[in-house]
This record gives sequence, C-alpha cells and structure tokens, in this order.
Amino acid sequence: MSTLLTEMPRATAPQETAPTETAPTETAPTETAPTETATERDPRWACVAARDRSVDGTFWYSVATTGIYCRPSCPSRTANPKNVRFHDSIAAAEAAGFVACKRCKPNQASTDVRNARTVARICRLIEQAEDAPPLAELAEAAGLSTTYFHRLFKAVTGVTPKDFADARRADKVRQNLGRSSSVTEAMYDAGFNSSGRFYAKSGEMLGMTPSDYRAGGAHAAIRFAVGACSLGSILVASSEKGVCAILIGDDPENLVHDLQDRFPRAQLIGGDGDFEKLVAQVVGFIEAPGIGLDLPLDVRGTAFQQRVWTALREIPAGTTVSYAEIAKTIGAPKSVRAVAGACAANALAVAIPCHRVVRTDGGLSGYRWGIERKRALIEREANVG
Ligand SMILES: [Zn+2]
Repeated sequence: MSTLLTEMPRATAPQETAPTETAPTETAPTETAPTETATERDPRWACVAARDRSVDGTFWYSVATTGIYCRPSCPSRTANPKNVRFHDSIAAAEAAGFVACKRCKPNQASTDVRNARTVARICRLIEQAEDAPPLAELAEAAGLSTTYFHRLFKAVTGVTPKDFADARRADKVRQNLGRSSSVTEAMYDAGFNSSGRFYAKSGEMLGMTPSDYRAGGAHAAIRFAVGACSLGSILVASSEKGVCAILIGDDPENLVHDLQDRFPRAQLIGGDGDFEKLVAQVVGFIEAPGIGLDLPLDVRGTAFQQRVWTALREIPAGTTVSYAEIAKTIGAPKSVRAVAGACAANALAVAIPCHRVVRTDGGLSGYRWGIERKRALIEREANVG
C-alpha cells in the first residue's frame, strides 16, 4: 500500500500528543525486590526485554506510568515490569485507556485499515447520492481536509472521487442496459433526464455507444498485469472504464490464456508500473477482505448473468447463500443451474464474490478458481466479520 496511507490526519488523532518518553518514576530504583513480578514470570516479558520483532502483532504491552502501549519490539527504554501489562489486541490496549506509542506506532496497521474504511464509507455515500456530491462535502463527511481527503481517496481507490462517481453512474447504465428493454428506459433508470446529456456522456462512460455495448462490444483495449497473492497467481485486467477481469490460478501463463479466451477480440496490453498499483490494491483486498473493494468494474455478460452478478455483490462478506436463494432473489427460482453457470462464468474473482455461494446443504460445491481457494476466502472473511 502507498506510504500515503500511513499518514494520519491530526484532527482524528488527538492522542498523538501523549508523551512518548518514559516517566521518571520508571527509572527510580526499586527496593531490592526479592520476588519476581507476575510480569516477569510471563514468557512475553522476555520477548519485550529482548525487543523481539518476531512476536510483533501477536501481543502488545502497556506501561501504567506513561499511559502508552507499544509493540514488543519498541526501541524505547525498558519499562519497569511491575508497571507493565500485556494485551492481546490493539483494541484491548486502547479500551484499557492506553494510547499508541509515537515511537513504535503500534496502531499503524490499523490506521491503514481505518483509512480504507473511511474511503469505503465515502464510496457508498457517492453511490447513494442522486448527483455526485462536491468534493468539500465528501471531505467533510470523512472528517478530513479536502486536500488530504482527495489524496487519500486516490491512494486507496486509484481514482479521484469524481472519476469514481462517474464510473458508478456508468455501472448503473451498464446494468440497466442488460436489464431494460430499451436504451431510453436504461437512461431514465440511471437518472439522466435529458437524452442529449446521456448520449453526450455515454460514449465516454461505456467506452462505446449504448447499442454497441448491448451488442457485446469488442475491440476494446485491455491492460493487464499478473501478480502474486496468498491464493496463488493473480491476473487483473482493466478496460478504459474499469476492472474487467480478476483471475486466480497456479500458473501465470494459463491466466493470460484465460484472459485471451474471454476477450478474443480485444487488444491486450501488458501493464506498466502504474497499473501494478491496481493489482496491489486487489491483492490487498484479497488478503484483508474487511477493507472492501470499491473499484469501478467493467462487468460484461448476458442480461441473466448480470442479474446474478448484481445479486452476488449484495452478499455481505462473512456470509454465504445458496444457489437456490440467489435464483429466488433475481426472480427466477427455477433457474438454480443457470445461476451456478453464471457463477462459473464470472470473470471478476472476489470482486464479484461468487465464492460466497454454496450448496443448499452448506457444502462448498465448485469454484471456478479451485475449491481450496473458495474455502480459504470464506474462512478469511468469516474471521473479519
Ligand atoms: Zn513504543
């Protein structure tokens, strides 16, 4: 993740002004204490005394006299064990009234997560708004300065708030084009009340005219890059308008072939450094699903597939539903097999969470990218919830 994310706006971090130096009481020599303290008998104390980096993230310790908590590896002067307490989580240390040490920044990782959550919350705000809210309004909702908010938003999503709003509206148009009987209907559904405005914008948003898109538009330029994640190799591809494929597998070369098969008429272009940031973002989401993935997506499929995929995106992380339930949700209760087919045809692993669909008896059933990966994803998300 970008270094930008580690930056924390002052307004939200008043505790940062807490003292970091150990208070003088701590250095005062204790009277010859014949008995070991409970802290000293705790095996974690030896790790703290040794500033053992390998146990960072498994526990935290606080010092009663300074009111701060640290990672085990904190380089500060060793505290008097009688003032030390251990905590299993950052939340537990903070709940006990301790504030993060400025030196070892024990809550830095959680700052990243918090920033990502803020951005995800604003993404939802943008989606729900009739018209794209002005930047100042979004920044205020995030509790940040406009400059900082804009920078943070871009660092997390890869696009500006305005680009995001445009892409989301385009998403709506795309979905409606798959569903509605006419282009005009789709246009009204998406909130465009003047057709002139729609046609002026549509080419830009869809990368093609509405009728071309309905015809299954091809000849688009698609950029892609392959990276690695805990589930194996990962390929992320994007058209000009959004992420159009996320493929996971063992062999990077097979992933590229798979991409060619899915977009036989598109011009495939290997990604540059900039594009790899997008891959990093998708990988980050796979490793920490709680963050949520709010990227503009370029979803391509039949009207029926689009309905299934839209329903899949409504399944919250940490939960699963059955194929039959999805069939019911989209108003086609008899089409359970077709729903399974649409799940298998999904080109956007994780972003369209087909891994959250299981058999009616709770069995995992199949997964386009391997049953073990499905199990891993479900387990990971269950732990986040
Ligand atoms: Zn510290």
